[in-house]
Amino acid sequence: MPLKLFNTLTRSVEPFVPLDPAGKAVGMYCCGPTVYDFGHIGNFRTFVFADLVRRWLEFRGYQVTHVMNITDVEDKIIKGIRTTGQSLRDYTARYETAFLEDLATLNCRRPHHLPRATEHIEPIVRLIEKLAARGIAYQAADGSVYFSIQNYQARGCRYGQLVSLNFDQMRPGERVANDEYDKESLADFALWKARAPEDGEVFWPSPWGEGRPGWHIECSAMSMHLLGPSFDLHLGGEDLAFPHHEDEIAQSEGAGVQPPGRRFVNYWMHGAHLLVNGGKMSKSLGNFFTIRDLLHQGFAGREIRFLMLSAHYRESFNFTLDGLRSARTSLARLDDCLLKLRELAGTAAAPPDQAVLDRFTQALDQDLNVSAAWGIVFDWVRDANRALASGALAAHQAAAALATWRHMDTVFGLGDRQGDAEAPREIVALLDQRQAARKAGDFPRADALRAELQDKGWVIEDTPKGPRLKRR
Ligand code: AMP
Ligand code: ZN
Repeated sequence: MPLKLFNTLTRSVEPFVPLDPAGKAVGMYCCGPTVYDFGHIGNFRTFVFADLVRRWLEFRGYQVTHVMNITDVEDKIIKGIRTTGQSLRDYTARYETAFLEDLATLNCRRPHHLPRATEHIEPIVRLIEKLAARGIAYQAADGSVYFSIQNYQARGCRYGQLVSLNFDQMRPGERVANDEYDKESLADFALWKARAPEDGEVFWPSPWGEGRPGWHIECSAMSMHLLGPSFDLHLGGEDLAFPHHEDEIAQSEGAGVQPPGRRFVNYWMHGAHLLVNGGKMSKSLGNFFTIRDLLHQGFAGREIRFLMLSAHYRESFNFTLDGLRSARTSLARLDDCLLKLRELAGTAAAPPDQAVLDRFTQALDQDLNVSAAWGIVFDWVRDANRALASGALAAHQAAAALATWRHMDTVFGLGDRQGDAEAPREIVALLDQRQAARKAGDFPRADALRAELQDKGWVIEDTPKGPRLKRR
């Protein structure tokens, strides 16, 4: 059975066939963050989804080249440097570093390439030149360069591949300068934005005068620069399908750089949005969370990741703190089982249970059906717990169960909690103080420290091998 994915281009679940004649190499591009602030948990739902796609392709033996752009020039960034007085690089570096830290907290595999827009002005300008040479890009009276939808269509190209559009309301020659607009404001969009006084020092020279690139052209230029004019897979959140991805197709295919009969991208995948308490996240509603906010509340990256991976990527997902707490409980059940298996297995080694892995593979091959995959994992946990409780499990069987999990976890990327290895340093320090208090016979202090740990979400389990920290 082949791996199947839902392709927004065809609105259907299709077998995945890479362009590589050997069927091995896969080029994958996911639109990355605009580094003007800390990313929120919605952004990271999309990045965890991209990580899942990549991990699943790798599990299935493909060699993935994963590219994620960093949008480091954009209106909100320019506003940010105006208010802080920082340089563009200093301002964006802070949020780019934070983004990469958050990605690591969620155990996302680092993309192989993280191209910054500001470092790819040359390929961007070259792409606009190609469009201009074909009569698809034109400079307007405001000095900016726009994409002509009419001239694109006149070349037999189709605008409206990812979404259906109503061209009746389009007035030829009308232009949008903003990168973000809705289907109702369908119009020629900006490729190169002429330098404006409020841009300050943020500008580059170009054949059309000083200015800066539009957002859409960045992704066309950088994806084709790194993956070639035609590649396999392009991902992003559902809000990006229009206009961002539609415009990417138009720019990339309008330049006429693909070999005959080839598209810019064969498979487009879009992740549904994350909502908070059923609504859109907003700072003014007080329901806006960054990954950092959740870490400060005592949650671990793997708990957030587990919660995000619990829903299918095409279903909108409702985030609540209660949901995160129950994710913690389910994960603790899995952790407990793994811990017992590890204790029983000792140094024994065994191959994984292929029947379980086959079922797991069938589930995820169906457009990443995580619900079915988790069903298999938790049935497996239940069976393992039963066998452990009955004392019927031999060391080599425990080792086989652990090997099975390790294979499945190359996809989920949750790692496993080994004793207190996962506890933050200050928590381990509290445990050490409690041990010292006990040794010194200061039991009230030892109890107070135990209570403090409890408040912070950790319990101490006294085992024959010494105390062990467990999440509450
Ligand atoms: P941005 O930094 O705003 O360009 O967004 C980065 C990525 O996050 C894009 O792929 C967006 O589609 C995605 N995104 C933005 N908001 C949400 C949300 N609430 N849920 C899921 N993905 C989102
Ligand atoms: Zn993009």
